[in-house]
Amino acid sequence: PVEVRLQKFLADTGIASRRKAEEYILQGKVKVNGQVVTNLGTKINPDKDVILYNEKKVEIKEKKVYLLLNKPENYVTTVNDQFNRPTVIDLLHSVKERVYPVGRLDYNTSGLLLLTNDGELTYKITHPKHHIDKVYLATVKGVPGEASLNKLRRGVVIDDYKTAPAKVKMIRTSSNSATLQITIHEGRNRQVRKMCEAIGHPVINLKRIAIGEILLGDLPVGKFRSLTQKEIDYLK
Ligand code: URA
Repeated sequence: PVEVRLQKFLADTGIASRRKAEEYILQGKVKVNGQVVTNLGTKINPDKDVILYNEKKVEIKEKKVYLLLNKPENYVTTVNDQFNRPTVIDLLHSVKERVYPVGRLDYNTSGLLLLTNDGELTYKITHPKHHIDKVYLATVKGVPGEASLNKLRRGVVIDDYKTAPAKVKMIRTSSNSATLQITIHEGRNRQVRKMCEAIGHPVINLKRIAIGEILLGDLPVGKFRSLTQKEIDYLK
């Protein structure tokens, strides 16, 4: 919780210069949590305190940011973790805006994660009705045969739920594992892991490489970039 001086907060929101903001405070035009405040030393917490200027609520209008992170394994996709594990937010040095992840990747999953402070975008990507494809590379134990791949394609039952048809391509095999490219538009909890489990080939390694037309590309693990305007337009 960061406290700031009231006049700085007012200046940061663009209401007025800091000098002018001080005048407003001294003139009794500013209220903090319902009380007129005329003391220039007053500190406030922008997350908790309600500030009124001329009886109107003052809010920081953050610029909208859209980020694409290559999430490493062993990071949680939440802003805070109850076990104090590293969170993806820890990787966003230099980002001032308060962004949050769009959807989730498991602790052990790596790859493409979008983060934004634009609530509308979250809705479009995470709501199943939009059917945005999510593409994963899943390395699984053993080498599934064509019949097993077809099961995945048609849909398998996980937690009493039948998954929608998926696109599945065998990318490579070794003597004891295979890498599948799996495209789904649903986003149930641990869905890809459970799907592969359901055909008897548990996931060893899982990485998301695309959300719709947005591609992870060769962004290094742990690094992020801003979406291009074209990518933002596509998602909106
Ligand atoms: N499916 C999974 O099982 N895990 C993820 O992190 C994403 C999709």
